[in-house]
Amino acid sequence: METGIEDKLRETLKTVFGYDTFRGNQESIIQSVMDGKDTFVIMPTGAGKSLCYQLPAILKSGTAIVISPLIALMKNQVDQMNAVGINAKFLNSTLTKGEINRVKKETLAGEVKLLYVAPESLTKEENVQFLKEADISFTAVDEAHCISEWGHDFRPEYRRIKSILAELGEIPIVALTATATPKVQLDIVKNLAIEGANTFQSSFNRTNLVYEVKPKKQAKKQLIRIVKEHKGESGIVYCLSRKKVEEIAEFLKVNDIKAAPYHAGIDGNIRMKNQDAFLNEDVDVIVATIAFGMGIDKPDVRFVIHYDVPKSIEGYYQETGRAGRDGLIGKCVMFYSYNDILKLEKFNKDKTVTERENARFLLDEMAAYAESAVCRRKQLMHYFGEEYHKENCEGCDNCLHPKERFEAEAEVKMVIEAVQQTGERFDLNHISDVLIGKATQHVKSYSHNKLKAFGIGKGHDEAFWKSVIRQTLLNEFIQKDIENPGVFKLTQKGIDFLIDPFAIELSKDHEYELEGEEEEIERETVNTTAYDKTLFDMLKALRKSVAKHMDLPPYVIFQDPSMEEMATLYPTSFEDLIKIVGVGESKARKFGKPFLELIENYVEENDIITASDVLIKSSGTKSKNKIFIIQQIDRKIDLEEIAETKDMTYEKLLDEIENICDGGTKLNIDYYIDHILDEDRQDEIYDYFLNAETDSVEVALEELGDEYSEEEIRLMRIKFMSEYAH
Ligand code: ADP
Ligand code: ZN
Repeated sequence: METGIEDKLRETLKTVFGYDTFRGNQESIIQSVMDGKDTFVIMPTGAGKSLCYQLPAILKSGTAIVISPLIALMKNQVDQMNAVGINAKFLNSTLTKGEINRVKKETLAGEVKLLYVAPESLTKEENVQFLKEADISFTAVDEAHCISEWGHDFRPEYRRIKSILAELGEIPIVALTATATPKVQLDIVKNLAIEGANTFQSSFNRTNLVYEVKPKKQAKKQLIRIVKEHKGESGIVYCLSRKKVEEIAEFLKVNDIKAAPYHAGIDGNIRMKNQDAFLNEDVDVIVATIAFGMGIDKPDVRFVIHYDVPKSIEGYYQETGRAGRDGLIGKCVMFYSYNDILKLEKFNKDKTVTERENARFLLDEMAAYAESAVCRRKQLMHYFGEEYHKENCEGCDNCLHPKERFEAEAEVKMVIEAVQQTGERFDLNHISDVLIGKATQHVKSYSHNKLKAFGIGKGHDEAFWKSVIRQTLLNEFIQKDIENPGVFKLTQKGIDFLIDPFAIELSKDHEYELEGEEEEIERETVNTTAYDKTLFDMLKALRKSVAKHMDLPPYVIFQDPSMEEMATLYPTSFEDLIKIVGVGESKARKFGKPFLELIENYVEENDIITASDVLIKSSGTKSKNKIFIIQQIDRKIDLEEIAETKDMTYEKLLDEIENICDGGTKLNIDYYIDHILDEDRQDEIYDYFLNAETDSVEVALEELGDEYSEEEIRLMRIKFMSEYAH
């Protein structure tokens, strides 16, 4: 690699995209693409896949082809690229002949950096001819899981990609996907013949998403409550049938919520109109079948509700993945009832045997996920081939409200033995039958009724054993066979456990049909935002009108995290503006002016000491820390933990917090103070500051020092300043 390439990448990241740092594996992935290597990227939705091909496409000579399954998605991405000053075009069936010719001409002239192509267009002979003449830098295959029948979104045209690309010469391939079980990954590699690819698998953990499964009881009432908690924010409600979509959309509208339906049965124009209304924020909630979403990458979706149970964990994960793409909290709630699973199964009855078995397998996994009391995050990550070892994720219902656990050393051992004695060739139902001692035809045909393990678990029922088997799997004592994911095999950990077992606790499954009659305890969802909410709302309104005027979706202009930062740091000059996260020079030039004017006026009218001094004084990392701290406090994270994550001392953190507070940002640290000081003591310090001549900590220490520590005084001063001085 030439020297300086890292700098070049970073510079482009900043000037074009407005970001200071790469996320996760982005930099290594981009280097692999820059080096012309085949590259396989597995990264969850919202983690930032697009940048992995957009950035190298900009830097490399020639045009990058991006194969993408949905037309809406292309338009979106092309808009976003054009907004940052990059020439991107698409080639699909919505274009007229004249438009197609223009795209081709520009491409052949070497002006287009990214050319988005639908798989159907790729296979057209005239396009193949045209691409042969073009100078192609590399090909990106987005949503690469569409290549596999084992995935949830199989598209036969994807199978032809490789043979067509082969006609164009030796072009490096970048395959990208957000959902791929180990089996699907294998299919992708084989089908695209990228066995030698550099593979980058990022963690599937979306730390900013909160997962919750609720019994499907009084579902409408629950729905209204969740939507109202998120007043004015964007959300998606998924339903299974078109009829249900219409019904729920109507129901929300009657309840004064700006909602619109979306499904394949709605007239094309109206459907487009509804989708645009959602993107433009004229509508807050879109109620949709799964037809909606693949094309949508609205970054500020704050909640995704599955009103009905989805057909697979892949689908569920991808749909929930549409929440919180901007990195801020996204709430994912699913209403579950086993009846939904039975209904879904009925839909499959006309399918071929293999298809039906596949669908059944996916559904079983879905039901198991919903009913299990194991951390949702752990389950999801395990499903996609990744282990999660944290005891409590603090971001799912099962961790926040743990179910009763039981000691299960003996039971786990029985499961491992049953898997071992049956020769590591059987599935959940079979292992469970053996354990209970159910001599079915199938069991007898393998003489498994003669095994030692046969009937060793007859004290418990089938549901119990299935749950234990699944948790034995989640705890890595057994594993799924990659080629045949229904079948269990032993792991080394399982073999060791047989020799040297140890105590292990498992959780009892939920029994949703019984649970949840009683009203749920209302959990407080206080939202003490640290940024200036008034300014933020004004910026949002401005963004909406600018977007309308320019005929672009609002988030193409500036995304929410950028505007939150603007409402925290009050940039009033071009130089300040490009320091805001997500704002590159090009964006600042293109869209910045009215925003700067608005902030300028606002600052003047409200006599705000702008943070621009603070910002200029502090280095880039310092202002990053600042934002991080504000966000963490917003999320009520303990101060010690924040300090630890940022690798700073507690003292240093207090300094930073005081800086932020003195800079004019309100911070609510009550959650922390309430931990360490009782009410009377709080009142005393508070009263002191109310009547004191100065807010100096030293003076306060002199006055109160015998009774209170410096830490306590400093914390109370922060509280006081936030409540009084701002
Ligand atoms: P994916 O395709 O993986 O679902 P996107 O490419 O749409 O995700 O990116 C999700 C969001 O993350 C977008 O809003 C994008 O602007 C943002 N993003 C991508 N890379 C970075 C980065 N390095 N720093 C900050 N934000 C980023
Ligand atoms: Zn959890």
